[in-house]
Amino acid sequence: IKEKGRAEYAFYHTQMSVDLAARNRLDADMEKALEQKEFFLVYQPQLSLKTGKLIGCEALIRWQHPTRGLISPAEFIPVAERTGFINSLGPWILDEACRQVKAWNDELSASIRVAVNISPIQFQRRDLLNSIKVVLEKNTFPPSQLELEMTETLMMTDTERVLLIIQELQELGMQISIDDFGTGYSSLAYLRKFDANVLKIDRAFVNDMVTNINDRAIISAIINMANSLEYQVIAEGVETTEQYVLLKELGCHAIQGYWFSTPLPPDDFIRFYNQHTQN
Ligand code: C2E
Ligand code: CA
Ligand code: CA
Ligand code: CA
Repeated sequence: IKEKGRAEYAFYHTQMSVDLAARNRLDADMEKALEQKEFFLVYQPQLSLKTGKLIGCEALIRWQHPTRGLISPAEFIPVAERTGFINSLGPWILDEACRQVKAWNDELSASIRVAVNISPIQFQRRDLLNSIKVVLEKNTFPPSQLELEMTETLMMTDTERVLLIIQELQELGMQISIDDFGTGYSSLAYLRKFDANVLKIDRAFVNDMVTNINDRAIISAIINMANSLEYQVIAEGVETTEQYVLLKELGCHAIQGYWFSTPLPPDDFIRFYNQHTQN
C-alpha cells in the first residue's frame, strides 16, 4: 500500500508540474499574442422567441496560437485572470466588439446588440468605468446596444463599489446581464442586491430540461421570476428542437445555442444575419 501510495504521489506530482509548466508558457505567450494579433472574436447570434428575429449576439474570444493551434477561452481566460493580463485583454475585446458591430450596423442600417463578457478581475481596477466610456466614445457606439455579462462571483468582494459601478453603467444606458444564472451558490441573494436587465439561464439546466422535470421546473420558475422583476431571459446552450419548443412554451424571451447557430466569424455572421432578416 505504501509503495502504491508513493507511486501515485509521484504520478500526480509529475502531472501537476506538466500542467504548471504549460500554464507558465501560456501566460508568457499571451503578452506577445495581443501584439501579433493572434486573438480574434466570434459572434454567436441570439434569437428572439417572440418575433423569431435575430436580436443580437454574444462576442466570444478565440486564440489562434502559432504552435498549439486554436485555444479555448475556458483554458486561457483563467490564466489571464490569474496573471492580471485580463486587464489588457478585456479593453481590447470591448474595443474590437464595438468596432465590428458598429461597422455592421452602419453598413446594414441595423441596430444589432452585442453582449461582451466582463471578468470580475476587471472590476478591481479603479478605471474600469472610464475605460468603457473611452471605448464607446472612440467607436461612437450607442451604449443602449451594449450588454455587459457578469457572473455571480463578481459580488463576492467590495460589493458596495461594484454596485455603484454597475448602477453608473446602467445610467449611461448599458444593459447588464447575469451570466450562468443558477449555477452559483447565491443566485437569489445576488438578485436582491442589484437590478440587472437580463438573466442568462445556464446551459446545465437547458441540457436536461426535456427529460428532467426538476430542471424544467427550475427553468419555468426562473422565467416567471424574471417576468415579475421585468428582466429579459435568455436560455443558453439550446441544442435541440425539443428544447426550443419547450422554452417558447414556457415564455422564455430569447435563445442562444448550436440549434440556431454556433459562434461565427464576422463574414459568416453577416451572411447569417441577412438570411434571418429577409422575409
Ligand atoms: P460563457 O460566457 O458562458 O459562453 C458560452 C459558451 O457556451 C461559449 O463557449 C459558447 O461557444 C458555448 N456554447 C454556445 N452554445 C452552445 C451549445 O448549444 N452547446 C454547448 N455545449 N455550448 C455552447 P466558449 O466560447 O468556449 O467560452 C467559454 C467561456 O469562456 C465563456 O462562457 C466565458 O466564461 C469565457 N469567455 C469567452 N470569451 C470571453 C471574453 O471575451 N471575455 C471573458 N472575460 N470571458 C470569455
Ligand atoms: Ca457569457
Ligand atoms: Ca454563460
Ligand atoms: Ca461561464
